[in-house]
Amino acid sequence: MTMSMQVHRDGFFSQRGVALQVSGLSKRYRTAAEEVHALRDIDWEVEVGGATAIMGPSGCGKTTLLNLLGGVDRPSGGTILVDGQDLSGATERALENYRLRRVGFVFQLFNLIPSMTASENLEMPMMVLGAGVEARKERATRLLEMVDLAGKADKRPEELSGGEQQRVAVAVALANDPALILADEPTGNLDTENAVAVTGLLRSLSAEHGKTVILVSHDPAVVESFPSVVSMRDGRFA
Ligand code: ADP
Ligand code: MG
Repeated sequence: MTMSMQVHRDGFFSQRGVALQVSGLSKRYRTAAEEVHALRDIDWEVEVGGATAIMGPSGCGKTTLLNLLGGVDRPSGGTILVDGQDLSGATERALENYRLRRVGFVFQLFNLIPSMTASENLEMPMMVLGAGVEARKERATRLLEMVDLAGKADKRPEELSGGEQQRVAVAVALANDPALILADEPTGNLDTENAVAVTGLLRSLSAEHGKTVILVSHDPAVVESFPSVVSMRDGRFA
């Protein structure tokens, strides 16, 4: 557990202890056949360093919300303030920068590059930001230690169990030291034991490393272990 805590290193998420401030957030998807109102007028404030679980039935808008918070997609209405800046009005370049430096994503299906070792998967996002080879290797080693996979640096995903792959994926999400971690059903493909380990790891990112963690899950055991829980239904907070 040697990772340094740098949440406030540039003040980006530190303003008044609020990591994200969401107002009147809505998202509509238009398809040829219909218009889906995926998010309806959500107001929400997320504390810096908090760990929040979002639960709700399939189709209620959980993934849509994470995608908007992560700068992957843009809202149809409303604002998402990050350090006083509105993501919905950000340029493509600013959003790309935000995704690379400020946010780490963890997905249900691990999203590792199959042909690369655990260490190489970790070094990828660092390389994109121009980190040198020594710094990359050292940080990858530290992050793999942090997720309890110190001996697995040279393993490719197929040589790892599902639980191990997901822990590598959590380490990849941390590669560029983002302040915000967004996890979309991260235990959906894991057995109970590994689900407990990955959930504990994500919680510890908040409790021990000051990250702001937002997790989406169907699993009551996962959700109940988080200090803060939000329920969604039909695009709203219930
Ligand atoms: P959840 O993650 O809670 O299961 P989603 O956010 O994926 O829900 O989806 C919310 C609603 O938006 C659903 O009705 C879904 O079908 C719809 N939806 C999601 N993504 C798209 C898209 N790209 N185009 C059209 N409709 C979409
Ligand atoms: Mg979803």
